[in-house]
Parts: sequence; C-alpha cells; structure tokens
Amino acid sequence: GPIARFLSPWTRLALWKQIFIALVLGLGLGIVLNQTGRADIAADIKPLGDLFIRGIKMLIVPLVFISLVTGVASLNNLSKIGRLSVKTLVLYLGMTAVAITIGLGLATVFQPGVGIDLGSAANVEVREAPTAVDTLLGLVPTNAVEAFAVGNVLQIIVFAILFGLSITLVGEKARPVRVFFESAAEIIYRMTSIIIAFTPYGVFALMTWVAGTYGLAMLAPLAKVIGIVYLGCFVHAIVVYGGMLRFLARLNPLRYFQGSVEPIMLAFTSTSSSGTLPVTMMAAEQNLGVKRGVSSFVLPLGATINMDGTALYQGVCALFIAQAYGVDLGMTEYVTIIMTATLGSIGTAGVPGAGLIMLSLVLTSVGLPLEGVAIIAGIDRVLDMARTGLNVAGDCAVSCLVAKSEGELDEEVFNTPHVMRSEL
Ligand code: ASP
Repeated sequence: GPIARFLSPWTRLALWKQIFIALVLGLGLGIVLNQTGRADIAADIKPLGDLFIRGIKMLIVPLVFISLVTGVASLNNLSKIGRLSVKTLVLYLGMTAVAITIGLGLATVFQPGVGIDLGSAANVEVREAPTAVDTLLGLVPTNAVEAFAVGNVLQIIVFAILFGLSITLVGEKARPVRVFFESAAEIIYRMTSIIIAFTPYGVFALMTWVAGTYGLAMLAPLAKVIGIVYLGCFVHAIVVYGGMLRFLARLNPLRYFQGSVEPIMLAFTSTSSSGTLPVTMMAAEQNLGVKRGVSSFVLPLGATINMDGTALYQGVCALFIAQAYGVDLGMTEYVTIIMTATLGSIGTAGVPGAGLIMLSLVLTSVGLPLEGVAIIAGIDRVLDMARTGLNVAGDCAVSCLVAKSEGELDEEVFNTPHVMRSEL
C-alpha cells in the first residue's frame, strides 16, 4: 500500500543504519529536552525503550539454552569442547587484564583526579562483592528449574553443556531430542529476528531518556574521567581486538567492526551486555560467520564473564579516586588492582551499573576510600555505555578468534559486508 511505499526508504535501510540514525536522533532530542527543561518528556519516552528491552530479555533463557544444547551436540566430540573452553577462558581473561592495564596507564598519564573537589561526595550504598569461592560454587545449580526461572546464565550454560554432551553420548536413542532442539533453535532464532527488528525504536527511546536526564552540564565536572574511559575503550578495541584479529587470526579487522556494530550500538544504549546477547548471537552468526557450535558457547559465557570495558573503567576510576584523595599507589597496588578487576569481572553480571558495585571491591583491595564510588555514581550511566559497548565488542572478537582457530568460521560470510536487516 501507499504507507508501505512511503516507509520503504526507511524499512529497506540496513539495520545498523537504522540503529545509528535512531541513536543520533535520540541524542539530539534528549539534549534539546534537557536544555529546555523538559526532561519529564524524555522520562515519558523511556517505557518504549523498556518495552523493547523486556522483549530482548524474554529471549535470553530459551535462546541460550536451546542454541547451546544444539551447539554442543553438534560439536560431537569431548576434547573439542574442552579445547574450546580453555581457549575462550584464556582469551577472555588475558584481554581483560590488558584492558585494565590500558586503563591504569591512561589514568597515570592524564591524571583525571588531580584538582578534583571531593566535597560533593554523597552517601552511597556499597554492596558486597561475591567471593571467588562463592562464584565457583554458584556455577552449578542445585535446582535446574530455578536456574531457568531466575535466568542465571552461567548455571544455564553448565546445565546446557552437560545436556548437549549427553545427547552426543547417548547417540541413536537421543535422536528425537536432538532433532527437537534443532527445530526449536530455528524457531527461537526466528523469534529473535522479530524482536531485533524493533531495536531502532528501543534505542531511540533509551537514548532520548539518557540524554534528556543527564544533559551536557552534568558531565562537565568529570569530563576528564569520561574522556579517558572513552579513549581507553577505543584504543583497546582498535589495538587489541584489531591487532589480535589481524595478526593472530589473519582476519580483516574492518569486517569485524562492521559485523559487530549492531550489538555494540545496542550495548551502548542499553548498558547491558546480557540484555544485548540475542543481538550479539545473531550478529556473530549472520555478519561474522561464526558457526553456532562456537557462538552458542563463547557469547553467552562472554556476556556473563568477559568485561574488558568494565575492567578498563575500574582501572581509570581507581586511579582517579587515588589521585583525588592524594593517595600514592605503588607497583604492588597496581598489580593488586589488575588481579582483582580481572577476577572480579567474572563475577560481574552483564547488567546496568554492575561495574560500579564491583568498583567497591577494587577500591577495597588496595585500601582506597569507598566514598569514591559516590563521586563516580553521578556519571556512571555515561561510563557504563562505553564500557558495555567494549564488553560486547570483546565477546564478538573472541568468538571470531576462537571460531577461526577451530575451523568454525565461515570466512565467506565474514568477508562479505553484512546484510542484517530488520525482518518481521
Ligand atoms: N553494564 C555492564 C555490562 O552489562 C557491566 C558494568 O556495569 O560494567 O556489560
């Protein structure tokens, strides 16, 4: 009809262009609303964004479970799963340690905390960070149904891997279940593409709300911290991810960035890498050519434990707080921060603001005042956007690296400019 024809220039746009336009428009509108004192309108638009995020979250549990079961069952061999896990973990943790080192380095050079007035520190509730033992024990659910009900991704991963493995071990008698899951995977992927079609509208609403709420003035006092975190995220993505892909995997980094752009933009606006997971999985398969056996394992795991952006941010903030309070940190403290933030990132959930809570763990580990968290809290959303974007970029990069080394990367798909569209 005429409406469809009128809208077709928009609906025919590649999804990433739609998302980008929505992001810019939302940013502009939000700033205008904020400047004109109508932040309330921005808040009124937010439910539209929340609605979209709810739709995405609805997918996570079934998508992770079903695709991981089919993924593991398709790998067909135990040693491959073991190798995959080791590679993935080493890359995730190694890159996280590099990320925080970059954060520490930049904050040492640019000194964001020097000359900051600490009088504004409000009271903030500091929550306890989980211990390493609790994190490890928590991997195994005592009740599988509960793991599904509360959406505990790590527990679902453990259960799904054992389930998929058992399908392979049982062999012929498990055929109906295998076929069932393969069919269910197609359905849940189709469902995911339906929800993903709404990404531009969700992004627009969320961006309007953030910009409308924060405005530009609120960012000024800590502009240096913000600048350093954003710079660090760019440096890490280009140098570390770009470099690893180019020199380790001999892949074109540009294609990787192009193929990861939808999940990165959604991560940036939603500040949740877990909430972005369905989009990340679709992008990895459709744009980057990562086979499901790898993507279904590497990406849910990454959304939960891989947090390069968060670690980098913690490095910057820890030094910022140390400088602001006039505390001198030595080499031992630097190493402690790197260790704590790297291990802490495993226990950080991929949800908005989680990194701020873990920051208190990092501060505690080197005896820095926890009030520092309160200073950061005021601008944390803006920092959260950058770090979550990097977190998701890292998940995508590792999925390409692991897939390539396992012969599970479809390089033809990887090298073809991606075509992800909004399809209903
Ligand atoms: N929001 C981040 C994420 O979802 C975690 C954080 O707060 O650093 O990846």
